[in-house]
Amino acid sequence: MEVNIKKLEKEQLYYDGSMKKLYSTSNPDYLFMEFKNEVVAIDSKKAKKVRGKGQTNTETSSYIFQFLDSYHIPTHYIGKLNEKWLVVRKLEMVPINVIVRNVSAGTFAKNFRMEEGQVLPAPIIEFYFKNEKMGNPMVNEYHLYAFGSANQDEIRMIQRLSAKVNAVMKNFFERRNYQLVDIKLEFGRSKGKIYLGDEVTLDTCRIWDNGNNSKLEKEIAHGKDNEIGKIYNEVKQRILHPRAKDEKLNLVG
Ligand code: ADP
Repeated sequence: MEVNIKKLEKEQLYYDGSMKKLYSTSNPDYLFMEFKNEVVAIDSKKAKKVRGKGQTNTETSSYIFQFLDSYHIPTHYIGKLNEKWLVVRKLEMVPINVIVRNVSAGTFAKNFRMEEGQVLPAPIIEFYFKNEKMGNPMVNEYHLYAFGSANQDEIRMIQRLSAKVNAVMKNFFERRNYQLVDIKLEFGRSKGKIYLGDEVTLDTCRIWDNGNNSKLEKEIAHGKDNEIGKIYNEVKQRILHPRAKDEKLNLVG
């Protein structure tokens, strides 16, 4: 580990988002990331609080970032400080949500008049400009160059990493009997290098259960609080304890 995370001290609130809070620390290169208990299902806008959800996402994200690291994917993850806090590299975020789609679902299925569940012949990578007032419109790399959001090398790297993260995570979920329908990624830069940031959890991965064909995002959108808590927990258990014993991770923290 490049820094002793136990020696970092929390300073002021850096960002208070809908799902997470970020705090600056005694080292300007690192932030503490705290996961809230709020739940907003994919494709839904209503937020509700579910006990234990913040902790579940901390563990899930921590495990997945370490897994991605073992595939040499540069991520902002530095370590897990405690049940609700991760230590991450502070990034200057590229203001886009990247969505990689393997199966048609949600707004994509609606917009392109496709039936939900149709497997796409190749993954589709989409960029959405992060600006709620504008309604987070879909953009391509030329918008991002014109807006000064990223340069060509950065976009090329973001596309390469997005495709790789998707391929790795698709397999990861298949081994847990889930189908990865789509995944939302965020990237940022630090000292000239692009890193995967934010989180990789049930909130950012649309996964369907191959076992009983259930679409988890729909169950989360319509479920009662205790049912939602159970879904998060079940996914966490399957993520942390895959049946296939081909994953050897030395978890730290
Ligand atoms: P929202 O911004 O939609 O309310 P969150 O509650 O998930 O979402 O907030 C997390 C915020 O932190 C996002 O805006 C995200 O871009 C930003 N972020 C994620 N990782 C980092 C990082 N390593 N450094 C700086 N900002 C980050």
